[in-house]
Amino acid sequence: MCGIIGYIGKKSAVPILLEGLRRLEYRGYDSAGVAVLDETGLLVRKRKGKIDEGLARALQPEPPAGQVGIGHTRWATHGPPSDGNSHPHLDQSGKIAVVHNGVIENYDRLKDKLIKLGHTFQSETDTEVLAHLIGEHFKKHRGKNSSVNPLALAVADALREVIGTYGIAV
Ligand code: GLU
Repeated sequence: MCGIIGYIGKKSAVPILLEGLRRLEYRGYDSAGVAVLDETGLLVRKRKGKIDEGLARALQPEPPAGQVGIGHTRWATHGPPSDGNSHPHLDQSGKIAVVHNGVIENYDRLKDKLIKLGHTFQSETDTEVLAHLIGEHFKKHRGKNSSVNPLALAVADALREVIGTYGIAV
């Protein structure tokens, strides 16, 4: 069990994500993290432990200013609580961030397949495998002339391969 939140709007995302995560903290307090998009790209901050002792402190010196972001508060199932196992997790390109509530049951088979395709992993989580799987499908859809957003198509394709339970934000 965990808490996930996403924000897109005109305000700075970080204070809204942090407030949302504080309200969700009862769902998991192993770690907390955010990914925020601004003009420079994707910024990820994540820390083991409670929000106000870990993530909020890490964000304080230089809070990212973007107006789009996702956040997560974790109840670990795959991989012990640590900074590295905290969400969000990135795909191989580092441009797609994923937060996930649930369990990817066939993650080891999917991970083997992705390793054979050249992917390298930074964490022990099932969620990072899903991030990489979405990234792998995104390569196929990116640049194609479709009326549907290529990221939405990549997420749909990845979820067709997944066995398990998931609420996600990408
Ligand atoms: N299975 C994921 C993990 O262990 C998500 C767990 C959760 O729902 O918090 O990182």
